[in-house]
Amino acid sequence: EAMITMSKIEKTYKLGDTSVHALDHIDLSIEKGDFVSIVGPSGSGKSTLMNMMGCLDKPDAGKYILGGSHIDLLKDRDLAEIRNRKIGFIFQNFNLLGKLTAVENVELPMLYRGVKTKERRAYALACLRSVGLEERAAHLPNQLSGGQQQRVAIARALAGDPQILLADEPTGALDSKTSKEIMNLLTKLNDNGRTIVLITHDLTVARQAKRTVSIRDGKLQEGEHI
Ligand code: ADP
Ligand code: ADP
Repeated sequence: EAMITMSKIEKTYKLGDTSVHALDHIDLSIEKGDFVSIVGPSGSGKSTLMNMMGCLDKPDAGKYILGGSHIDLLKDRDLAEIRNRKIGFIFQNFNLLGKLTAVENVELPMLYRGVKTKERRAYALACLRSVGLEERAAHLPNQLSGGQQQRVAIARALAGDPQILLADEPTGALDSKTSKEIMNLLTKLNDNGRTIVLITHDLTVARQAKRTVSIRDGKLQEGEHI
C-alpha cells in the first residue's frame, strides 16, 4: 500500500529573468513501512522535494497523494492541518526550545493539539522511552549531547503519532559514531512499522536505509548515482 505517490511533479523557482527547474518531472512511490533515503549533492533539489513531501509547499504541476489525501488539490490552510496530523519532522539542528526540558519539548505537538496535561506527560515520557532517553526527561537541551538532543527531537516527532517521519540531514551535525546510533534508532523505529524518508548528501548515511533514491539537477533516479 502506498504512503506517498508523486507523479510528474514540477517545481520552478523564478529569479528575475532566470529560473531554476528545482524538481523536474518527479515520479516517486513510497510504500507504507519503507525506509527511503534521498541522496544528492548540494543544490540538487533535496530540500525542495522534502518541502513538497512535508506539505510545506505545493508543486507547480503534477500529482501528490499522501496517505490517501490529494495534497496538490488542497488549499493552503488545509495543507497545515494535514502536515500536523500526518508528518513528524526531524531536522539537522534539532530545533529544540532551549528553555524547555526534554519532556516539555516532546509535549509541544500535543499541547498545540489540545491533549490534556496528564495524558500529554505520560505519552511524552513513553516517546522518550522509545528513544532510550526517559532518564533525561528533566534535562534542558544544553545539558544533553548532540546525539541525545537528536533523540529528544525524534521523540517529539513521534509525539504526534505521524504516519511518516521526514528527516532532513538528521546526522548532519553529529560525529560519525553518533550518526550511526541515530541511524540505528531510525532503523528500529522503521522495524516497528514507521515509514521514514530521510534526505542526506552523505552516502554512508544513505546506505543505512532500506532503499536509496538519487537526485541530481531536480531529476530522480532509483539507487545510488553519486
Ligand atoms: P538541496 O537541498 O539539494 O541543496 P534545494 O532544493 O535547496 O537543493 O535547491 C535546488 C535548486 O533550487 C538550487 O539550484 C537552488 O539554488 C534553487 N532554490 C532553492 N530554493 C530556492 C528559492 N527559494 N528561490 C530560488 N531558488 C531556489
Ligand atoms: P548514553 O548515556 O550515551 O545515552 P546509554 O547507556 O543510554 O548511553 O546508551 C548507549 C548507547 O545506545 C547510546 O549511545 C544510545 O544512542 C543507544 N541507545 C540506548 N538506548 C537506546 C534505545 N532505546 N534506542 C536506541 N538507541 C539506544
